[in-house]
Amino acid sequence: MDCIFCQISKGEIPAEIIYHDKLFVVFKDIKPKARLHFLIVPRRHIVSINDLKLKDAMLAGKMILLARKIARDQGVADSGYQLHFNVGRGAGQLVEHLHLHFMAA
Ligand code: AMP
Ligand code: ZN
Repeated sequence: MDCIFCQISKGEIPAEIIYHDKLFVVFKDIKPKARLHFLIVPRRHIVSINDLKLKDAMLAGKMILLARKIARDQGVADSGYQLHFNVGRGAGQLVEHLHLHFMAA
C-alpha cells in the first residue's frame, strides 16, 4: 500500500520518531506549525475518524492518553497544548491515515 504513514510506521521511510510502541508511532511533523508539532499515528491503517468502529474505542482512547504522556514528557502539560484531527479533504486532511496533531508553543 502506498501510504506514507504506514511506511514511516514500518521504518521504510525516515522520520524523526520521538516515541513508539506496539500500537503507535509519534514523530515530528515535517512542516511544523508550532514550536512542538508531532503526529500521533496508530500503526494500523485507518483512514480517518470516520472509519473508526466501536471496537476501536480503546485505540482512540489510548491515542488521547498518549497525547497526555507526550505533553508531560515534553514539559507542556501545564503550559498547554493543542490536539486536533482533520477529518476529510474539506477539513484539510491530506494524509489518508488517521493522525492526531499535537502542537505546543
Ligand atoms: P493533515 O493535513 O491533517 O493530513 O496533516 C498531515 C501532516 O503530515 C501535515 O502537517 C504534514 O506536514 C505532515 N507530513 C506529511 N508528510 C510527512 C512526513 N514524511 N514526515 C512527517 N510529517 C509529514
Ligand atoms: Zn497507512
